[in-house]
Amino acid sequence: MAVIDALDAYAPHITHPQMTAELEDGMSSIAAGKTTKEEVVRSSRDLLAQELDALLPVREQVKEALADAVAADAYVGVCPKCGKDLQIRASSKTKSMFIGCSGWPECDITYPLPKGKIEAQEEVCPTCGMPQVKVTAFRSKPHVKCIDPSCPSNHEPDVEVGICPKCTDRGIFDAKLIAQRNPRTLKRFIRCENYEECGCSYPLPQHGTLTPTDEVCEACGAPMVIVTTARGPWKLCPNFECSAKEEKNEAKAAKKTSRKRSPRKK
Ligand SMILES: [Zn+2]
Ligand SMILES: [Zn+2]
Ligand SMILES: [Zn+2]
Ligand SMILES: [Zn+2]
Repeated sequence: MAVIDALDAYAPHITHPQMTAELEDGMSSIAAGKTTKEEVVRSSRDLLAQELDALLPVREQVKEALADAVAADAYVGVCPKCGKDLQIRASSKTKSMFIGCSGWPECDITYPLPKGKIEAQEEVCPTCGMPQVKVTAFRSKPHVKCIDPSCPSNHEPDVEVGICPKCTDRGIFDAKLIAQRNPRTLKRFIRCENYEECGCSYPLPQHGTLTPTDEVCEACGAPMVIVTTARGPWKLCPNFECSAKEEKNEAKAAKKTSRKRSPRKK
């Protein structure tokens, strides 16, 4: 981490393991009755005061070094549009991470980032030469990916998952439902190839390998799919408005009210 290195250069004790070691020694000495808590606090305070005395005269340099270090930690590569730095940033609106250009607002180039811990990589994408990042999503293994959604390495093949029930209802029996991912929003969903006419689409979980099945949901006619994550395979009806789900929720709600209404035993 460049920030730690920058701090280390100006205030070695603050980040240096020596300070931690001295404090730990102090703790054991207190435990052993060799010294008092006051004594240890006083010497730590002196140590910090020394560091601050060293930092204050060079505060402007420290400020610059820290700003540079923060930029270095965020740096992912060169902007293909203007040649300035591409940086990992947090959106103030959504709090989510994305890649933006240090030339903003003159340069408006951005790349979406998936959820999880993001680390810049030194090697560029072997397919297209754009920068790569390492993504560690919750409960998943880290993986390195190209930041450009249009890069062939990021192209997930569309998966045929079944036949559109809405088109079937209107007499078209071979309309395919396709699972796909929007390259800009990175959202995954199922959509009918006649979507403009039938409006049939279903949301999908964002992570996990998608496997089609031959089954359709008995309640709503949507294709059943299997999503396999680190927690194992999960078979689901992707339809949010599926009546089977409503029945389940109703059953839950009914259980709750019946419990509430049940007369108390005296
Ligand atoms: Zn740019
Ligand atoms: Zn690429
Ligand atoms: Zn359709
Ligand atoms: Zn269903």
